[in-house]
Amino acid sequence: MRTLVIDHPLVTHKLTALRDTATDTATFRSLTAELVTLLAYEATREMRVQPVSVTTPVGIARGVKLARPVPLIVPVLRAGIGMLDGMTQVLPMANVGFVGLRRDEESLVASTYADRLPADLTGRDTFVLDPMLATGGTLATVISMLTNRGAASVTAICLLAAPEGLRHVEEAFAGDSPKEPWVRVVTAAVDERLNDRGYIVPGLGDAGDRLFGQI
Ligand code: URA
Repeated sequence: MRTLVIDHPLVTHKLTALRDTATDTATFRSLTAELVTLLAYEATREMRVQPVSVTTPVGIARGVKLARPVPLIVPVLRAGIGMLDGMTQVLPMANVGFVGLRRDEESLVASTYADRLPADLTGRDTFVLDPMLATGGTLATVISMLTNRGAASVTAICLLAAPEGLRHVEEAFAGDSPKEPWVRVVTAAVDERLNDRGYIVPGLGDAGDRLFGQI
C-alpha cells in the first residue's frame, strides 16, 4: 500500500479552515468539496487510459481517453457523501456505489449495514471517499470488499489520517505486487494520534456532524 500526503499550500489552507470550530456547516461543506477536488487531482494521476487520435482544425493530435470500464466512486456513509460532489467534478463519467459501516462506540469495531456495490469490479479503478482515516477498521473492510470483487485499483481519499489507521491499513494490504490491485491512500495530512474515543487529534471533530449536523 502507498500513502500520499498532499503537501500544497491550497490544500493546507482549506484543511486549516475545516479544522476551525468557528467554520459553519455551509462553509464546511463547500470547503470539503474544494479540498476533495484538489486531492482527486493527485488521486487520479495513475488512472488507466487508452491512446486516441483526434482531428484538430489544423491536423491530427495524439492523446488519451480514460479506459473502460468507467471508474467507480464509493462514498462511505454517512460522511463520505459530503465528499461526492467534489469527486464527481473531476470524474463526471464515473459510476457511484455506496457502503455503510457503523462503528461501535465502545469497541470501535465497524460492521456493514449497507452494500450497494456492483458484484463484479474486474478491471475497474475505484475511489473510496471517507473523510477520516481513524482506526482504519472501516477503510480496511471497504478495501477488502472492492478487491474481493476484482477491482484493478483502490484509492482511498481521506481529508485526514491518524498514524494508527494508516498502520492498520498498511498491515492489512502490505503485499502490493504488480499482480495485485494497487491500494493507495491520498490525504491532506497525517495528524498526531487517536484519543480514547477514536477521534483524530487535533483533527476536526466528527466529520459527519460537521457536514450534516448532529442527529
Ligand atoms: N470520525 C470522525 O468523524 N472524526 C474523527 O476524528 C474520527 C473518526
